[in-house]
Amino acid sequence: MHINPDKCVACGNCTYVCPMGAIYIDPAIGRAKVNLDECVECYACFNGMSQEHLNPTLVRLMRKAFQFMRLRFDPEPDVCPTAAFEPEELTWPRVVRRAFSDPRVPHESTGVEGRGTEEVKTNDVSGRVRAGEVGFTIEFGRPGVGVWMRDIQQMAWALADAGVAFEKRNPITSLMTDVPRGTLREDILNEKLMSAILEIKVPVARTEEIIRLVWDVEKRIDTVVALGVGARCADSGDEEVIAPILERLGYHLERAKTNIGLGRVTNSAAAAAPLEAVKQ
Ligand code: SF4
Ligand code: SF4
Repeated sequence: MHINPDKCVACGNCTYVCPMGAIYIDPAIGRAKVNLDECVECYACFNGMSQEHLNPTLVRLMRKAFQFMRLRFDPEPDVCPTAAFEPEELTWPRVVRRAFSDPRVPHESTGVEGRGTEEVKTNDVSGRVRAGEVGFTIEFGRPGVGVWMRDIQQMAWALADAGVAFEKRNPITSLMTDVPRGTLREDILNEKLMSAILEIKVPVARTEEIIRLVWDVEKRIDTVVALGVGARCADSGDEEVIAPILERLGYHLERAKTNIGLGRVTNSAAAAAPLEAVKQ
């Protein structure tokens, strides 16, 4: 993202809009600037603010005149008064930032917007996680924090060393040059994203081992990690296998979502497995 210094009047409105805190007023030039290291190309500034087309020279003059009279001229808070944002044509590898950070842009590899995966939410039709298995979503980053691809790499290597299977319909997996080893393309490692998700599944017996592994890697990487656990319910509608393991590890469980299997089965291999309710 680029701010045109000829248009910017340094009103500061956009500094509150950027979820990564990447926009600042540079006192040396008296204009807003984007810290390109921290900018994740989410386009919240460009798309989230109304763009007015006031004359920048006139606005600066008015601001100075009002300042002289100890008054203020400030535009409405959700407006860039001079339409100073000018998105740049993104090329590889920077375009990866936008794919994972602008929720309106679908991922090429999966056709899904945002982080690019439906996760286990559609397990009733996708059958990603079967009976006897547990699916993990390892979610990195948040607005205000973000995540570097190189940190996702650390987690992917650790998981691959543990011999887990990465979900194929996931955009991070599609960026791996060596899926069994969990190795990501080298040219994207210095890209920062708002958020991304690694997905794996393992036999239920490995639940605790994988959670402890994620805890361990999380301590070494510079972001926040949220762990999602997906499993099939018993016929009673309750989940009685993974839940006790999670509670023993200190998690307090509440029922979040229950898919009830009303969808059409899209994974033919999974069709052979009984369709049970899925608890997340
Ligand atoms: S909102 Fe527009 S004019 Fe105001 S500081 Fe940001 S880029 Fe500059
Ligand atoms: S594109 Fe997003 S991260 Fe970059 S400056 Fe704009 S709001 Fe901030």
